[in-house]
Amino acid sequence: KIYSSPIVHQVTHKKLGFVVIINDITEVRKLEKIRSDFVANVSHELRTPLTSIRGFIETLREGAIDNVEERDKFLEIIEFEAERLTRLINDILTLSEIENLKEGFVKEDIAIDDEVNEIFYIMEKTANDKSIKLIKDLNCSGVVIKTSKDRLRQMIINLVDNGIKYTPEGGYVKVTTIDRKGDVVIEVKDSGIGISKENIPRLFERFYRVDKGRSRKLGGTGLGLAIVKHIVESMKGSISVESEVGKGTKFTIVLPKDQK
Ligand code: ADP
Repeated sequence: KIYSSPIVHQVTHKKLGFVVIINDITEVRKLEKIRSDFVANVSHELRTPLTSIRGFIETLREGAIDNVEERDKFLEIIEFEAERLTRLINDILTLSEIENLKEGFVKEDIAIDDEVNEIFYIMEKTANDKSIKLIKDLNCSGVVIKTSKDRLRQMIINLVDNGIKYTPEGGYVKVTTIDRKGDVVIEVKDSGIGISKENIPRLFERFYRVDKGRSRKLGGTGLGLAIVKHIVESMKGSISVESEVGKGTKFTIVLPKDQK
């Protein structure tokens, strides 16, 4: 919007010219829209598992409870959806915490390779259950960066977890760390389903999924990569993706060692 107002001489009242104020409100509008879209999305995403839970409770009440097989199957679905709901709420809270505390979060000295080793220990069972091989190639021994342990861990876990989720049985997920001058490079590569070119630009948007049904079935929240992106930004780093459908995906994070 452009506002203009004349400048008038205080004594003669002659017009001397114009002051033009260009006020760019499009950015503000855009942010407002992102926020209101997010609230609408959150409501929808919370409602989906709740609708499913209520539906299955009703079916049980209507008689399915007397059939042991059906009862167990429906209870399992209710449990799965309740767990997804919990994950969804946790992810929403995490995202809002990272956004609100872009800087000034608690930092400590983290040895990158030690952290990856711990993450492998945590993820071992999930990978084993799906016969996915976890491979590591760690080249940052002695490299320490001052950052949030929780954030760094969540960032890598989200990528490894996706690697496992979107890789068929028998595949692999590989984490590589590289010491590159002022940066630490962390790569997470999988031999999974891959992502087509047209989906890559929207990947880090909240609630964006290439295949909604598949993500839900796998218990996804659609927020994992949005969280990763926000964490990387809070650490002044960058993230990129390379992928080929049917072959696999590689996420590369570059973090400056100097994390003041
Ligand atoms: P979700 O909870 O659905 O996994 P994310 O934000 O973690 O949400 O990922 C967004 C979408 O990106 C996923 O739904 C999936 O379609 C795609 N995606 C993420 N990681 C991978 C991967 N390693 N391989 C293939 N597709 C992936």
